[in-house]
Amino acid sequence: MGVSAGDRGAEKGSALVVGAGVGGLATAIGLRRAGWEVAVLERRAEPERYGTAFGIHPTAQTALDRLGLGDALRARAVPYRDAQIRRPDGRVLAALPLERIERKEGRPELLISRPYLMDALHAELIRLGGTEIAYGRAYEASAARGADLLVGADGINSAVRAARFEGGSRPRELGSTAWIGTAGFETGVYGETWGRGRFFGMTPVEPGRTNWYATVPEATTAEELRAAFADWHDPVPRVLADTDPQTWIRYRMRHLHPALPSFTRTAGPGPVALVGDAAHAMTPNLGQGACTALLDAEALTRAVAAHGPGGLPAALRAYDGERRRSAQRVAFGSRTLHRFITVRRPALRDALVGLLPG
Ligand SMILES: Cc1cc2nc3c(=O)[nH]c(=O)nc-3n(C[C@H](O)[C@H](O)[C@H](O)COP(=O)(O)OP(=O)(O)OC[C@H]3O[C@@H](n4cnc5c(N)ncnc54)[C@H](O)[C@@H]3O)c2cc1C
Repeated sequence: MGVSAGDRGAEKGSALVVGAGVGGLATAIGLRRAGWEVAVLERRAEPERYGTAFGIHPTAQTALDRLGLGDALRARAVPYRDAQIRRPDGRVLAALPLERIERKEGRPELLISRPYLMDALHAELIRLGGTEIAYGRAYEASAARGADLLVGADGINSAVRAARFEGGSRPRELGSTAWIGTAGFETGVYGETWGRGRFFGMTPVEPGRTNWYATVPEATTAEELRAAFADWHDPVPRVLADTDPQTWIRYRMRHLHPALPSFTRTAGPGPVALVGDAAHAMTPNLGQGACTALLDAEALTRAVAAHGPGGLPAALRAYDGERRRSAQRVAFGSRTLHRFITVRRPALRDALVGLLPG
C-alpha cells in the first residue's frame, strides 16, 4: 500500500530534507509519492556505496512496501534464520529468536547489502522525478530555506537538531569500538558469540558472502582485532583472515543522550521534524538503525500526506506520537543489550542466556 492521492490534503507542500542516508532518501520518496516538492541536501560529494549490511525487521519491510520499495528489497535480500548465541569455545547457549519473530510477524527478518538498498532508494527517488538532490551541500553552509517543512535526516551529529532543538541531546560514547566487514565466503554458521567484554556476529548477506561485526574495547588495528579473536571457535578467525582490512569499517560505539523530548518543532522559523539517527541514534546491537529510520520516514510522510501543508502542526504531532516512544524504547533496549553482552564477568550472563527458550 503506498501513500495514495486520496490520502493527501488538497494542496501540495514543499520540503527540504537534510541528509541522503536511508532516513532522508526514504522520507524524500514518501513526500514525492504524496506529490510534495522535495529538495535534498547531502554533505557528501556524491552518493556513497559504503557499508556492509542492514537487518530489515518485518515491520520495516511493511514500511518499505508502503514506500513502494518492497519488491526491490525482496529481489536481493536473504532471510535470516537458524542463528545461535555461542560462547567463544563454540558451545551454543541459546537460539536467537528469529523463528519466533517469523511466526509472529508472518515473514522472516531479512538481510540486505547496504550499498544495494542505498542504490534502490536512490533509483526510486530518481524514477519518481521532481527531486533535486544537491550533493556536496551541508545544511550549515546552505542558504536554501523557506520550504513548508524541514526534515533533519542528517545522522547522529545532526546539524538540524543542533540548530533547531533545545535540550542538549548529543552523541555519547560507550567506550568500545565496533568493526564491520564482509568475508568472501559463506560460513553457514550464523548468530553471535559472546566473550568477556567483546562479541562477534555473523549473518548471511548475499550468495557467497558473510556479513560480520565485532566489538572490542581495546583493539585499534586490524592485527589487534584478529589477535583478540584468534582462539575463538571456527569460523571466526577464518572470517577475519579472509576479509581485506582495507575494507573493514571501524567506529566508536555511540548513542544519542539524553533522549529528545520531541522529534518535531513548530515554534521558531518553521515546522521541522527529525528522522533516523538524527532523532534517536542507537547502538547497533539490535540491528534496528535502518529499520527505525524507515519506520520514521514512512510514518512522517503518511502523516504529512494525510494532513496536507495546512495541517503540518497536527501531522507533526501525529508523527511524534507514533514514533518517539517506540524508537526510544528500541534505543534503550539496544544499549542495555550492549551492556549485557560486553560484561567483563560473563558467567552469570551465560547462565541467564542458557535459560532462554529455544
Ligand atoms: C557511510 C555510512 C555507512 C554505514 N554503514 C552501515 C552498515 O554497514 N551497517 C549498519 O548497520 N549501519 C551502517 N550505517 C549506519 C546506518 O546507516 C544508520 O544508523 C541508519 O541507517 C540510520 O540512517 P540515517 O539516514 O538516519 O543516518 P545516516 O545513515 O547517518 O545518514 C545521514 C546522512 O546525512 C548526511 N549529513 C550529515 N550531516 C549533514 C549536514 N550537516 N548537511 C547535509 N547532510 C548531512 C550524511 O553524510 C549522511 O549521508 C552507516 C552510516 C553511514 C553514514
